[in-house]
Amino acid sequence: MPGLPELNLILLGPPGSGKGTQGERLQEDFRLPYYATGDILRAAVKEGTEVGKQAKEFMDRGDLVPDEVIIGVIAERIQQAEAEDGFILDGFPRTVPQAEALDQKMKELRREITEAILIDVSEDEVVRRLGGRRTCEANPSHIYHVEFDPPKKEGVCDLDEGKLIVRDDDKPDVIKNRLATYREKTEPLVDYYDERGILNHVDGKQSPDEVEERIHGIIATLRREEEEGM
Ligand SMILES: [Zn+2]
Repeated sequence: MPGLPELNLILLGPPGSGKGTQGERLQEDFRLPYYATGDILRAAVKEGTEVGKQAKEFMDRGDLVPDEVIIGVIAERIQQAEAEDGFILDGFPRTVPQAEALDQKMKELRREITEAILIDVSEDEVVRRLGGRRTCEANPSHIYHVEFDPPKKEGVCDLDEGKLIVRDDDKPDVIKNRLATYREKTEPLVDYYDERGILNHVDGKQSPDEVEERIHGIIATLRREEEEGM
């Protein structure tokens, strides 16, 4: 059975690399569903699907949802018609054992991860991006950046004059911890996909538009290769 041309993509990158922004743009540009793991997990729980019910039991107890349940949620989604031509996965896998388990599941479904895209950003840049974020105390969806998107008046929200604060997640020590976890657990994934010959680097220091354009180039090349039967 000749394999259908599919684009089953994984987005990799440290916190602050802009993966989420790119995932959302790509889903519009290429009409591939974008699965941010946290979002599809919550959706499965809300819809009460088979694996959603399993996930809910762990969440209700305040436990971490085990890998096999998360993989079950992913499998449920990618077997829907919307993911027939492919999908974009973000937030999973985060470790090599998770990647191996995902590959195993994909094999059972007679599919495979076809490409991993790493949005590469230096640690200094991550600290600059996340550390400069200021969030409105009155409405946390009002977000500023001291350097890239400053409020008109320092420390005050333009929209409702709420006080701008540094969220716990954006404090220097917390950023350093998140980066250390990324380095230890997620970075080996880069080698894992590189060894399989499906890793693409994108320089994440560029603007979101430039990063998007670069990813477009990668995907366009892949599509062309598939059409030519490579
Ligand atoms: Zn505000």
